[in-house]
Amino acid sequence: MEYNIGDIVKTKKNHPCGSKEWEITRTGVDFKLKCCGCGHTVMLPREKALKIIVKK
Ligand SMILES: [Zn+2]
Repeated sequence: MEYNIGDIVKTKKNHPCGSKEWEITRTGVDFKLKCCGCGHTVMLPREKALKIIVKK
């Protein structure tokens, strides 16, 4: 599955703020995700990001 910047994805676990939705702000070797609930951003290695992201 391909992911693009700007895609809204869901994760298996809720963020502490209660949101499950994240916006992809960077792809490549590392993925950067921005929480749609609180705006928090995380950077993850691609492999790990693909594990926690669930398809919409
Ligand atoms: Zn959040």
